[in-house]
Amino acid sequence: MERDGVVICVASKAGFCFGVKRAVQIAFDASEKWKEVYTIGPLIHNPQVVSLLEENGIRVLSSLEEVPHGATVVIRSHGIPLDDLRKLRDKGVRIIDATCPFVKKAQEIVSNLVKKGYLVAVVGEAEHPEVKALLSYGEGKAFIYKDIPEGAKKIGVVSQTTQILSDFFDAVSRIMKGCEDFTELRVFNTVCQSTAERQLECKNMAAKVEVLIVVGGKNSANTKRLVEIASDCGVKAYHIEVPDELDVSWFFDKKMIGITAGASTPDWIIDAVVDRVKKLTGGIVQDGRVQRDE
Ligand code: SF4
Repeated sequence: MERDGVVICVASKAGFCFGVKRAVQIAFDASEKWKEVYTIGPLIHNPQVVSLLEENGIRVLSSLEEVPHGATVVIRSHGIPLDDLRKLRDKGVRIIDATCPFVKKAQEIVSNLVKKGYLVAVVGEAEHPEVKALLSYGEGKAFIYKDIPEGAKKIGVVSQTTQILSDFFDAVSRIMKGCEDFTELRVFNTVCQSTAERQLECKNMAAKVEVLIVVGGKNSANTKRLVEIASDCGVKAYHIEVPDELDVSWFFDKKMIGITAGASTPDWIIDAVVDRVKKLTGGIVQDGRVQRDE
């Protein structure tokens, strides 16, 4: 389906964020140094990268109980609940902490707020590992924002680092309406800059392209949010993990095609998707990879 005048825009913010890059590097370094290296759950939400890590001796366990005595455990970029950290220490395993510094900062905020007598409302997905860890730092005084107890007087609010910024602000306003007795509300915008920039670029891109390809793990929350953002802007967005999922019919009659990717999508998969879209459409890459790497 080669056509003239097809333009492919590749997001300059697509791919590994600082925290993911750092965690992957830490895991590779650990596997070079120590033989038995494990993560509890996948290091990042991208099955292809997790397979590559496994090939390099970094194995995924589904629970703490499976960690062998004396092994090395790499803590994922979205952190670990305090209880689990204590259990690991009790087991005597070597702990390599790859928690993203931005996630750590949010954990510290939760902990400090609780020490100062606040109840903490966390805006995020209850089942996401980062949120579970954040709640644990409240030691019983932190709640998913919808569950904040009635009558709370001093309330602190933080966000999962990958929330859509406007959803976070909406949640804050809902907290204010729902907790009429509060006397003090402290809001900490803990959406990380990398997330905010990626989402803004996605929104801008959605305004100019006719179809948007979003590349990332199907289990990646931040990738799913990019699809949501594009859909809210009225552009058709397809979430794929690998180039084989691309369907030529998506590009029929389209002159402006966008490609972006989640924070845990490696460059090699983005490059392969760009190549495949070029082959399917005969399009020319207008910006992105070269610009991005400069
Ligand atoms: S999305 Fe932000 S907070 Fe999460 S790992 Fe990446 S840089 Fe860190």
